[in-house]
Amino acid sequence: MTIAPILPVYARADLTLDHGRGAYVFTKNGDKYLDFLSGIAVNALGHCHPHLVEALTKKAKELWHVSNIFYSEPLKKLSDRLVENSFADTVFFCNSGTEAIEAGIKAVRKFFDENGQPEKYRIITFEGAFHGRTMGAIAATGTPKTTEGFGPLLDGFDKVPVDIEAVKKAITPQTAAILIEPVQGEGGISVDPLKILPELRKLCDEKGLLLFLDEVQCGVGRTGKFFAYEWAGVEPDLLSSAKGLGGGFPLGALFMKEKVGKALKTGSHGTTFGGNPLATAVGNAVLDVVLEKGFLDNVQKMSEKLKAALESLQNKYPAIVDEVRGKGLLLGLKLKAPYENLKVVDKLRENKLLTNGAGQNVVRIIPPLNVTEAEIEEAVEIIDKTLKTLSA
Ligand SMILES: *Cc1c(COP(=O)(O)O)cnc(C)c1O
Repeated sequence: MTIAPILPVYARADLTLDHGRGAYVFTKNGDKYLDFLSGIAVNALGHCHPHLVEALTKKAKELWHVSNIFYSEPLKKLSDRLVENSFADTVFFCNSGTEAIEAGIKAVRKFFDENGQPEKYRIITFEGAFHGRTMGAIAATGTPKTTEGFGPLLDGFDKVPVDIEAVKKAITPQTAAILIEPVQGEGGISVDPLKILPELRKLCDEKGLLLFLDEVQCGVGRTGKFFAYEWAGVEPDLLSSAKGLGGGFPLGALFMKEKVGKALKTGSHGTTFGGNPLATAVGNAVLDVVLEKGFLDNVQKMSEKLKAALESLQNKYPAIVDEVRGKGLLLGLKLKAPYENLKVVDKLRENKLLTNGAGQNVVRIIPPLNVTEAEIEEAVEIIDKTLKTLSA
């Protein structure tokens, strides 16, 4: 047998983690790492936040699962609060980002079918996007890495560059929606989509299209607003969320305006685990912290501090760092060739800082939203030291 028991679809670092506290994770023998990856924007409040641990363990002693043919208290409470704090009128819970995308693709199709326009089913998507790993999501992502060998792919996606003129040209009578990440995560921490959101909204209104945002990575406070679309001053018709929403517990959601939600009638979509009491109890605990007065302002403050420090490293190592990118605490260092992001990520890990690579030769930096100034200083020192060794 030459295959590992853990299916090697990931190029894992040779590091086995045992426990975590706040912004730090530890191996069993006590090696300590500063975690500026946060499980790829999942551990939004760091590791084992006491309020989240309490919510989960309390619920674990009360109620694990009841199926979606009943209500649970945390489910009702979380949906009310998400509706109250977003553009949405209704929310569908699931367990992951790709499921939230899948639900969104179905909602788009159902919306037009219910409105007597079943010929409208195509969705415009973007170069550099990532939407997940299910059949619908890989068709929407459309990169060879995610689709090769998995054909025939689901039909109905038209990919364009992040450019408003390209979008206009791609619209046909079959176009139903535009699906975009306000900040591209996997694609390389690009904020370009955010810049065209107001124009996309206008275009959707003019052409009768739905605006579908993928905020699986950039939502739930990550950019310094509860959702990234708030920076653009426009609202979508539907939005997928996951990652930070459960603070480390699997929880995804599709947010919808009433007109979209109404199309998904009883029995038309479903999930066994989605919205279970444990996940929604933790989701409520995440909201308790993230929606607390001043929390998101502090994310913005810490973002400015970290960004400024990274920019000074860019000035110090102009041969290595090409650009500091991102919004809030979803940041990236774009490197110059011949420096390779994954090699730099390895070196940073050797120096006890966890990050990872994203597209366009970017080192992705995603600290917990409650990161402290001292932790930022420590991370910047490690990056400084690492770049210094590389430039020598
Ligand atoms: C991670 C991610 C997904 C997929 O989420 P999973 O929970 O891995 O299915 C979808 N869209 C974006 C923008 C993501 O970052």
